Order: sequence, then C-alpha cells, then structure tokens
Amino acid sequence: MDTTTNPHLRSFIEVNADSHFPIQNLPYGCFRPKSGDFTRVGVRIGDWVVDLSVLEKEGFFEKTGLGDHRVFHQPTLNSFMANGRVIWREVREILSNLLRHDNPKLRDNNDLRSEVIIPVNDVELQLPVEIGDYTDFYSSREHATNVGIMFRGKENALMPNWLHLPVAYHGRASSVVLSGTDIRRPWGQIKNDDAQFPEYTPCRLLDFELEMGFFIGPGNPLGTPIPVSKATEHIFGMVLVNDWSARDIQKWEYQPLGPFLGKNFATSVSPWVVTLEALSPFKCTGPVQEPRPLPYLNITPNQTYDIQLEIFLQGQNMSDRHRLSHSNFRYLYWNIQQQLAHHTVNGCNLRTGDLLASGTISGAEAEAFGSMLELAWKGTKPLRFPNGEERRFLHDGDSVTMTGWCQGPGYRVGFGEVSGKILPASKLL
Ligand code: MN
Repeated sequence: MDTTTNPHLRSFIEVNADSHFPIQNLPYGCFRPKSGDFTRVGVRIGDWVVDLSVLEKEGFFEKTGLGDHRVFHQPTLNSFMANGRVIWREVREILSNLLRHDNPKLRDNNDLRSEVIIPVNDVELQLPVEIGDYTDFYSSREHATNVGIMFRGKENALMPNWLHLPVAYHGRASSVVLSGTDIRRPWGQIKNDDAQFPEYTPCRLLDFELEMGFFIGPGNPLGTPIPVSKATEHIFGMVLVNDWSARDIQKWEYQPLGPFLGKNFATSVSPWVVTLEALSPFKCTGPVQEPRPLPYLNITPNQTYDIQLEIFLQGQNMSDRHRLSHSNFRYLYWNIQQQLAHHTVNGCNLRTGDLLASGTISGAEAEAFGSMLELAWKGTKPLRFPNGEERRFLHDGDSVTMTGWCQGPGYRVGFGEVSGKILPASKLL
C-alpha cells in the first residue's frame, strides 16, 4: 500500500481544496530562487516550493539508494530520473513524511523550514528536463478522425494502419519551451488551394494542440525493446503539452514524410512533472481496442488515467479568458505503455529525459475538441466571444492556457498550467 497517496494525508503547509498541489501530488520541477545563484530541483506543495538541494545537503536522502550522490544540486531532473522507480519511491516517501501535519521535524525547525520552504512567487521556474529527443504521437481516435474527414473526406478518415499501431513522428527537442514563453508567429512556405505556386509569408492558420507528454526515466540499450508489460518502469511522470501548429505550412509540406516546419517552431510544456505514483489513484480503463492489438502492444485492460483537461483563450482585447474546450486524457485510444513499447519495438533506444507526447486529445463532442482546427472546423464555424470577436485560428496577442487535474475526494492532483502568448511574425529580413 502506497501511503503517499492516502486521501486523508494533510500537510502543515496550508493547501486550498482547489489547489493542484496537495501533499498527495508533490510534483518535481527545477527553479532558481530570485535571491539564489544556481538552478536546483524542488517539489511543489500549495503555493510553495520545497528546495530539495537543501534537504540533500542536510543528508535527508542519504539512507536511500542515492547515498551521497547529489541529484538535486542539478539544473534538470535528468540525474534523478535516471535512477528508476525504487529510488523515486524512497524519495517520495521521505518527502511525504517530512511534510505531514503531525511530523515536527521540519515543521518546528524554523531555521531549516525558512531555508527549505520558499514561496513560489520568489522563484524563477526553468525547463525541468534536458530533453534529448521529442516524439509526438497521434493517439486520439476522435482527433485523427476529425482531421481525416477535413483533409480526405469521411470515407478515408482513419488511415488503414491507425487501429493497429500508435502513429507518431519524431519532433524537435530544441524548441520545447517552458510555459510562459512567448510564441512568435512563424514564417513559411504556404500554397493556397487556388494558387498555382506557393508563397513565403507569415502563417495565417496558427493553432494549438492540447496534449500531455511523459518523460523517460531509465532508457533502454540500442537493440533491446521495452516490453509493454515493463513500460511503466521507464516512465517518470507527465506534463501538459501544447504542440503549437502552423496548419497552412503543415498542409503544403507534410506529404510524403510528415510534419516538419509546421510543428518544430515551438512546443510548450508545464513546469511541474507529476509522477506516476501521484497519478496511480486515478487509473481508469481507456477505450476498447478492436481489432485486438498485436501481442507486443496488447495490455488488457487498456489502462490509462482520468485527467480532466481544459483550454482557455484570451485575446488582447478580452478582459477575461474564455474556455474553449473540456477534454480528458482517458479518451486516448493508445495508452502510454503502448506508445513506449511501440517506440522501442524495432530496438530504438530511448534515453533519460526523452519526451513522448500523446498527440491532440479530442473527445467525441465538439466541446471536447483539442485544437482550433477542429473547434472552428477548418475555419467554417468560427468561435464567437462575448466582446464580439471571432476566431478561426489564433490572432497575434492571443494567450492560450491549458490546464489538467485529477479529481480526488476533497482534493485535486493537478498539473498547473501550460500557457503561451502569440507574438506577431518578425519583420521580413
Ligand atoms: Mn501534436
């Protein structure tokens, strides 16, 4: 029995019932105190960050498998993530214990407490992981069907391979940015349907994609696939992902090799990595998989997580943000174990810190679509806002915010937010 997820746990640090970060969560991130000199590892609780580098220096983790190996005096989570689940659990148990309302050890040690517990407003968050490789899947049946209908018609909506394997492409890790980073509207080569030749112009059909991603802990040697039954041993935790997309660039360039410049200009991730331990009480069954996947992909039941997801948009002339969509991670057809097993089935080696994203998460109803392309149905059904404005795709100055959480009895285990604002295209050089 994992005591760290007990719904009755309480911390001496006050946490509101609607906070994403109760003691049951304890997600990892990387930060620099505004008064500090180096980036280090912390966990979030309520509106506070617990500085693990101080606890490490004080010897709190010496009895774990980490010994005196310093993994929290690091600018990323990679060193810690490489250690695997046994050590992740040991550290989580120590932290969970230390933060309990009835444990005086940190609670009543004022000097240590003021050094370790820092208001989140007093830190600068950093990208939590050094991402070597980024892969983006296409695992929502509803999204793949919607896009298929728009681009190929109803009869050929889902490609023949789609129900047999988790389709994916290799993305670009260098342009994965932390939530809050502004997104510059990209230039590119675009060809209008009625034009004879393409033009070089700023993207007109700029879009977001509601996704979630997971980070690889221990990797696998080249040539050695990870079986689907062992997949979770290699998964550290999850974040929210906004896979910004330039639909007009994508449409002209994508055949026959797939997405390229329409995708690789920016991908935003949320700052706090929520562990599979914290998510475990929210396991649920995903969609029935028919036809039954090949044995290397077969895992019954199709186990996934119940994570509610929302998308908000605020234009620069809007006084408030407006909800565009309400989806759920559980709608995904292919689960994260299957994605990982498929990625390595040919012997491809994953490395610590690799990011594997889900693909756009759309539900069956229009209120649950995960991209502007679908919500405004390729521009044919513009979204209307209270101030009279319309959107077919994103305008300059628009801020897009995505959030996600699991609802427990009286508390939430959440991911915080991933947000980004669209800046105008740069001037032509
Ligand atoms: Mn995507």
